[in-house]
Amino acid sequence: MVELKNPLFDSMAMPTQALHADDHLHETPDVAAPIGVSTTFRYNKSDVEGNNYGAGQRYVYAREGRANTTQAESVLSTVMEGHAVLYASGLTAALGVLLHFRPKRVALSAGYFGVRRVVEHYASIAGGVQIVGAECAYDGVDLVWLETPVNPTGEVSDISCYALRAHAAGAVLVVDATLAPPPLCQPFRHGADVVVHSATKFLGGHSDLVAGVVVARAPAAAQDMRHTRALLGLGAGSLDTWLLQRSLPTLAVRVRQQAQSAARLVALLESLRRAAEPRPCHTPSAADRALGARLAEVRHASLQPGISAAAHAQHPHGFGAVFSVRFASQAQALFVARHLRLHAFATSLGGVHSLVDWRRASDAAADPALLRVSVGLENFDDLAADWRQALLALEAHEAASAKL
Ligand SMILES: *Cc1c(COP(=O)(O)O)cnc(C)c1O
Repeated sequence: MVELKNPLFDSMAMPTQALHADDHLHETPDVAAPIGVSTTFRYNKSDVEGNNYGAGQRYVYAREGRANTTQAESVLSTVMEGHAVLYASGLTAALGVLLHFRPKRVALSAGYFGVRRVVEHYASIAGGVQIVGAECAYDGVDLVWLETPVNPTGEVSDISCYALRAHAAGAVLVVDATLAPPPLCQPFRHGADVVVHSATKFLGGHSDLVAGVVVARAPAAAQDMRHTRALLGLGAGSLDTWLLQRSLPTLAVRVRQQAQSAARLVALLESLRRAAEPRPCHTPSAADRALGARLAEVRHASLQPGISAAAHAQHPHGFGAVFSVRFASQAQALFVARHLRLHAFATSLGGVHSLVDWRRASDAAADPALLRVSVGLENFDDLAADWRQALLALEAHEAASAKL
C-alpha cells in the first residue's frame, strides 16, 4: 500500500501543498501529471501466484484504483488535513459517507436539495432510519450533516457549535463545505469528523468535470470507504480525475479572488438596495430607485445578521463566492437572470465563469423570486456594470409595461 501523504508538506502553506504534495507519487519525469486511461495493469510476472499479485503491484484493475486517483487523493488529503477519498460526484460522496456510518438517526441541516434526496433514498433502502433537522435535539442522533456556507444564500454556521452538540450526543459531524474550500475554511480545525465536497464546484473550478470528495479525519474510515468504492465502482473517471488534478494548483488564487469579487458585488448590490429605500431623512432619487428598488434582499455571510465571532474566524480568507438576491416577484428574478450578460444563466456554482441560477427550476422548495449567484473570475468592474445594466433594463421594461 502506497503512502498517500508525504508529511514533509504538512507544515507548508496550502498553495505549495496543492502543487507538490503528490510529487512522491509521480513515476515519470513529466512536470504536469499525465493522464492514465488504462483499465487494466500488467502483473509483476515473477510475483503473481494464486490470488496474490505481489507487494510491488500497485494497480490491478481501474475500478479498484489508478495512479491519477492516488495522486489526486494525495493532494486533497494534504490540502484538506485529513484522508481523502475521491468519488464520481458530490452526491456519490454523500452516499459513501452514509454507507460507511450507516446512521439510524440523521440530523440534517438546510442546504443543497440533492443531499437531502440522497439521505432520504438511503433511509428508504436501509429502513428504520429517521431524519430530523440539525436544530433539533440530538437524542439518538448518530450522524449530523451540516452544510456551511449554505446553498443558496452563502450564509455560514458555527461548525464548533455543532461539533460540541454532536459529540455530546455521541454522533459524528459531517460538514459539506462545498461552498468554501481551502483556503477559505478548514472544517477539521473546528471539530468536524468528516468533510465532504462536490469537486464539480470550486475544486474543479472550470465547469468541466463531475466528482466528489470525502475527507475523513480517521485513516481507517477512508480505507473502508475506498473498499466500498472499489466494490461498487463509485470512483471518478480518468478524465475527470485528471482535470481535477490540473485544477487544484490554482485553487487558492481562484477561490480567494472569486470570494473577494463576490464580497464587493454583495456590498454594491446591498448599497443599491439601501439607496432606493425611503428612510427617515432619505428620499431616493429617480436614478437610485431605478437601480435598487427591485432588490428585495441580498444574502451572503458578509451581510449575515448576528453572525458569531467563531463563524467569522472560520473564514480567514473570505466567506465564499456564492450569494443570493431576492426580488419582489418571480417575473423580476427571471427577467434579470435573462438579461445578465456576463453571468451565464445556468445551474451549478464555483467555476471561473460567473453563473446565475433560478433555484426554483431544480428545487421545488426554493423561493421563486430568488436568484443564486456564483461569482467567477471576470473583472469586478465588468461584473458590477453587468448588474447595473440588467437592473436598468428591468426598470425600463416595467416602466414600458406600466404605460401600456
Ligand atoms: C452541487 C452540490 C452537491 C452535489 O454535488 P454533485 O457533484 O453535483 O453531485 C452537494 N453539496 C453541495 C453544497 C452542492 O452545491
